[in-house]
Amino acid sequence: MGSDANIERVLWTEEEISGRVAELASQISDDFRGSPVPVVVVGVATGAFLFIADIVRKITLPVAVDFIRAESYGSGTESSGVPRISSDLKIDIGGKHVILVEDIVDTGNTLSSLISHLETKGASSVSVCTLLDKPARRQVHFKLVGEGKFYRGFECPDYFVVGYGMDYDELYRNLPYVGVLRPEVYK
Ligand code: 5GP
Ligand code: MG
Repeated sequence: MGSDANIERVLWTEEEISGRVAELASQISDDFRGSPVPVVVVGVATGAFLFIADIVRKITLPVAVDFIRAESYGSGTESSGVPRISSDLKIDIGGKHVILVEDIVDTGNTLSSLISHLETKGASSVSVCTLLDKPARRQVHFKLVGEGKFYRGFECPDYFVVGYGMDYDELYRNLPYVGVLRPEVYK
């Protein structure tokens, strides 16, 4: 499998990601099957665009799909504190089960503001489905809403990673795998 010259190491291949996405989708389908309350899957733009596209196609339930955008990163590799919601939902989530789909949870700042925002909009529960989780870097302990559940694809070591939706300075999102970016690229 060929990888980009700026990728130091591939952490998860396209096949590994696709296998894990199928498992998460089946877990979500089991957990929400028969829910009398509508389910809305919300992708955090732009990083989650491939993950949400793949996972919703494997969820075997009626779900609505929407996007939200939060800005925290500039063009660097370190989070810049409390993010701002720069593009909000189109769907009314009042009284519904929301599953927030993220590319990666790092400090937890983005997730905790998004969860509070969705709670304010009256979601009956907020679950989180993140492809990657970097628990070593957590600063904020987010709290799910209602009966919300936490799903994660893989635990990510403390490297700056790109691919499968994740960028550095808006590039590398289209790589089909997740890899570690050579530090020379951003230093
Ligand atoms: P947090 O607010 O949890 O610190 O950061 C969450 C956001 O920062 C993620 O949704 C993602 O967009 C970005 N982020 C955190 N770690 C990485 C990483 O290793 N690579 C990339 N490309 N983005 C990251
Ligand atoms: Mg993100």
